[in-house]
Amino acid sequence: MTKVHAYAAQAATTPLAPFDITRRELRPGDVQIDILYCGVCHSDLHTARNEWKGTIYPVVPGHEILGKVLNIGKDVKNFKVGEVVTVGCMVDSCGTCGSCKENLEQYCEAGAIFTYNGRDKYDQSVTYGGYSTQIVVDQKFVLHVPKEFKESDFPGVAPLLCAGITTYSPLRHWKVGKGSVVGVVGLGGLGHMAIKLAHAMGAHVKLFTTSAGKIQDGKKLGADEVVISKNADELKKHANTLDFMIDTVSVSHNLDPFVELLKRDGTLCLVGAPPTPHPSPNITQLVFKRRKIGGSLIGGIKETQEMLDFCAKNQITCDIEMIPIQKINEAYERMLKSDVKYRFVIDMKSLH
Ligand SMILES: [Zn+2]
Ligand SMILES: [Zn+2]
Repeated sequence: MTKVHAYAAQAATTPLAPFDITRRELRPGDVQIDILYCGVCHSDLHTARNEWKGTIYPVVPGHEILGKVLNIGKDVKNFKVGEVVTVGCMVDSCGTCGSCKENLEQYCEAGAIFTYNGRDKYDQSVTYGGYSTQIVVDQKFVLHVPKEFKESDFPGVAPLLCAGITTYSPLRHWKVGKGSVVGVVGLGGLGHMAIKLAHAMGAHVKLFTTSAGKIQDGKKLGADEVVISKNADELKKHANTLDFMIDTVSVSHNLDPFVELLKRDGTLCLVGAPPTPHPSPNITQLVFKRRKIGGSLIGGIKETQEMLDFCAKNQITCDIEMIPIQKINEAYERMLKSDVKYRFVIDMKSLH
């Protein structure tokens, strides 16, 4: 066992603070990783503060991990010591259910084992995430960082493991490509990635945001049009124009004005997870145009590697602001005010 530094929340109401944890001895298929960068996701905050309930304390958040391989178990052939790798939201799954067999481990019928606040399937220990100097992960849940990414890209690559795949997977599932008209609701960590990815896939992208201050930023990121969604008349101009829409907003809101924007057979896909439910949608609007409201959770490991390769080929990374881990509580407060463009990333040197 290796004792390493980490940052943990000890209770829902206490700030994150230094906390030492142990990482397990390497199993034959394990990869031991020295963490260089870890992105800060809204889920980290929800979990640290027990907003989704079920948090096991102390909790060490962080599931957008990039680091260097320090050591490998005796059966590991696919990774070399010194290689740059990433780990996302999951560290294990049953491996035998229908979803796992279809490379959709995130939907594992026994429940995927998440990178933090999960339980190891062999020894039942609680999983600790990336706000830490090291992590030990089964090789099946470790991803290669494509060679096209330079060292200076690494901080912006880390958040691809959640913000990137969470938006990439539904865009692929609903077959977005050249000729598609795609709507993105909300310009935050997820929204800015949805714009970049949909644009790179060749779609015509419309950003829907409540703030007029985001028009220029939206266009710079690749949106073809930016619509101020507070203005009902503005929204109506876009009725029946979208093939697909991805809603990244993680607070409860009325979905009806967005459903109306879909063409016949269009889908509104929700990827934000609000702690309180959205109001029930207007069913007539769905029925009369065979529209759908759906959801999507991150992506499987195979698809996550495909996403990293796609991003490398298209020179896509997240726009980030780097922080030392000592500023994590401040970062949470700023995140709540959407005061970040568009993802905080912890420079793990600050924890060594
Ligand atoms: Zn996340
Ligand atoms: Zn499974």
